[in-house]
Amino acid sequence: MPSSIRVPLVAVVLIATACAGDSDPAPGGTGGAGTAGGNGGTAGSAAQGGSGGQPVGGQSGAAGQAGGTSGAGGTSGAGGASGAGGASGAGASGGAGASGGTGGSIADAGMNEDAGTDAGVPEPDCQDGKVVHFVYFVEAGEPNSEAQRADVESQAFAFQQYWYDQLGVTFHLNYPVVDVIEADHDADWYLTTPDGVHGDDERWYRLGNVKNEVYEKLGIENFDDNHRVVNYPTTRHDGHVGGNFGGAWMDGDDLTCIADNGFNYPYGDGNSAHCIGHVAHEFGHVLGLDHEGPNDDCMQFGFYTDDPNDLCSFSEDNVAQILADADNEGWFEAMPGDTCVGL
Ligand SMILES: [Zn+2]
Repeated sequence: MPSSIRVPLVAVVLIATACAGDSDPAPGGTGGAGTAGGNGGTAGSAAQGGSGGQPVGGQSGAAGQAGGTSGAGGTSGAGGASGAGGASGAGASGGAGASGGTGGSIADAGMNEDAGTDAGVPEPDCQDGKVVHFVYFVEAGEPNSEAQRADVESQAFAFQQYWYDQLGVTFHLNYPVVDVIEADHDADWYLTTPDGVHGDDERWYRLGNVKNEVYEKLGIENFDDNHRVVNYPTTRHDGHVGGNFGGAWMDGDDLTCIADNGFNYPYGDGNSAHCIGHVAHEFGHVLGLDHEGPNDDCMQFGFYTDDPNDLCSFSEDNVAQILADADNEGWFEAMPGDTCVGL
């Protein structure tokens, strides 16, 4: 990887359950300040700690700010646990591109081409199950493209297969697979409007605002017991991606890279990430992982690559952790291709 690799910042603010600091690991490079944690939880939820600050890359990464204020009726936020700069970012040599095994590329990942929304749609494999929604989030004024919706659907099946390859088990996709959401606002609104979640930390307004609208329209809650989300918006904004609240919140170029088994550029610094590796990383947070594992793990630097066959994997320890996490119990009861009408 080029020595110019810089730091992806993917922070997460968890609400209502656990809280954990988050940042995307970055190969060593310029350090920077961590991002602040979020604010307290919303009424009716348990306390929410702010997320830890983001250790961002190099040895000089400044400590992240502490977590946010306490949530209503709960304990105070405990963010900042991972805010020590550089904890996982001190890889002097970068380390991207060293990823080991692959779980199958997009091209061979078992897409179910029959699973369209038109005639010939197969029946769901179950009713009332725990499901992962793939959302095509079309900001106002942006084209609602059937081709892009189909890309999201293909990615959904590839992603389901990916986790099967990693864990030996996988989740049900929702039925229909893709939720197309015609958003209430244009892209700028999500970027600039306080989201009620992240205080005055504008960097996360988009994530919070999109999350709020998606969950409202799907009728689900933060860290919903029966629903997880992978969201693809139509527009791109450098670095405004991340995972949690029970969802992976991707960027516009995560969507456009789907069509050609390609790459995206999470942070506008010229460093490419694998189209599936990136979403796997964010979903790894949804499954309870922090930035842990070997350097080439998907939860570390493994998703940075410019090789389409270099799809990152999860270490044995990370796999074991996912499978042992009580919050993931009941989620992995499907085979690749299975869909279910969500609860
Ligand atoms: Zn991350």
